[in-house]
Amino acid sequence: AADLPAVSPTDPTAKALDYVEDATKSTNPKYKAGDVCHNCQFYTATNTTGRGPCQLFPGKSVNAKGWCVSHTPKKA
Ligand code: SF4
Repeated sequence: AADLPAVSPTDPTAKALDYVEDATKSTNPKYKAGDVCHNCQFYTATNTTGRGPCQLFPGKSVNAKGWCVSHTPKKA
């Protein structure tokens, strides 16, 4: 999964979901400090650095420290 191609910032889904490679750079009003892809339930890997798959971006990888507006905390 780590070798999936990186989602492009110009990908229509990435734009629609306001995806950013670096969560701390998000200007989206829904962004909350500490929210990152690796603690989102749609992130289907466990690595907290590098890249991994997201259910909302089939066939692509997102940055473990990225973010999008669909961020949903992983269930404990
Ligand atoms: Fe990251 Fe979750 Fe958005 Fe996927 S749904 S890009 S894992 S924040």
